[in-house]
Amino acid sequence: MYRVNAAKLAVDEEANERPRGASEVTRTVVVRSAPLPRRAFKVFVELEGMYRNMVEQLVLYAINNGITKFTRLKGERYREVRSLYPQLPSHYVYTACQDAAERAHSFLRLRRMGRARKPYPEVRSVSIWLDDHLWRAEGLTSISLATHRGRVNVSIELNKHYLRYVNRGWRLATEARVKLDRRERRLVLYLTFRKEVSEYRPKGYITVDVNEDAEAVLIDGIVYLLETDLSRVTLGYYYRRKSVQEKYDRVYGPGSRPARRVLRRLSNNERALKREIRRKLAALIVREAARRQAAIVLERLGKEPANHMIEHIKNPQLRHRIFQAAFKGVQAAIEEKAREHGVPVIYVDPRNTSKVCPIHGAEIVYDRDRHGVCSRGGETWHRDVVACYNLLLRALGGDGGSAPSRLRAFVTVDGGPVPLGPTAAHEPTPIAREAWARWKSLGATSGQKMRVST
Ligand SMILES: [Zn+2]
Repeated sequence: MYRVNAAKLAVDEEANERPRGASEVTRTVVVRSAPLPRRAFKVFVELEGMYRNMVEQLVLYAINNGITKFTRLKGERYREVRSLYPQLPSHYVYTACQDAAERAHSFLRLRRMGRARKPYPEVRSVSIWLDDHLWRAEGLTSISLATHRGRVNVSIELNKHYLRYVNRGWRLATEARVKLDRRERRLVLYLTFRKEVSEYRPKGYITVDVNEDAEAVLIDGIVYLLETDLSRVTLGYYYRRKSVQEKYDRVYGPGSRPARRVLRRLSNNERALKREIRRKLAALIVREAARRQAAIVLERLGKEPANHMIEHIKNPQLRHRIFQAAFKGVQAAIEEKAREHGVPVIYVDPRNTSKVCPIHGAEIVYDRDRHGVCSRGGETWHRDVVACYNLLLRALGGDGGSAPSRLRAFVTVDGGPVPLGPTAAHEPTPIAREAWARWKSLGATSGQKMRVST
């Protein structure tokens, strides 16, 4: 295994003189009420009915008149809708206008793109939007809601997630949504938490080279290869959906309802699995970065699927999906988590990051299986290790072509260059998904089982 003393890596102070603004981070947390008595629950069923009706009417009006702005919709419809339900607190009309304007906005956008299948959007599932007049928290375990039958107090069940936000200095925002769980007679509340986070000044870097089935992460001189299998997941679900579709089409004819239901479930499972993989990966990387007060270095990806990364996938739709999930999606998850913890994220030019030797600046000649030989020094490199070090060099300022920064990445603060045998294989440490997904940190890996290649 190849190792440099990156923990002691000197970071150029001037190179980091950029404003580190505070930014606001928003998270939605779901809490459930205790089961309500039949009488109390009925009040919310009535409320939901009225709210749904208002939203349906407002959406219809908004679509017919091309309205996507809340203020205009409210201006033109408030009086009329208000008079429908005079017993309802007036702010439900406000929030119904907001809700409807947002639905109209996204529907009209779909229609412009030619993807709307119906003349009007269906108001299928309703969550009631609340503002500061319609609800308030009464301590930690209870909230009060304004209804057409006066204020109703509802006690909520504390959960770990909710308490974590409360305890870590997040502010509860005034906007919230509530849904009815009819089977259990509970309210499901979607609360919004906000926090101001400011980025710290990085003391070092963690570089992440995103690949279709693994992320190579350079931490403290070790390149970890965290396997994600994201393209394999995408391909697997693609073929499963295809075979389900063929089977159902034979039996029920094309585009049948049972087929659509099965396909939708498969898509939901796929999305959930991918989201979970990316979320855990991002949490692990960001945690390591925050612990070291390091910045995370990512490749700047273009808008179009970077075809060279996944050129073996011939189907353009699949290529796009793999790019979105494995490249864009992983970056987005890391960014989101990083913002929450004030971890700076730096983007560098990804061109040729795996082609040039990070030590000698000479071309690396690859044969197969991601291994190559430096054309000057003759040492062997693994492609992902090369990419990680070159990202680090670019982050250190310089394009990876100037000698000072190249040296800096490999020289310990107090010593000379780290000895590198000319034949040493610079191997990453591959870690299977089942392993890293359970880890709290990469630093505490010594006692854990992992596959280390040497
Ligand atoms: Zn070399």
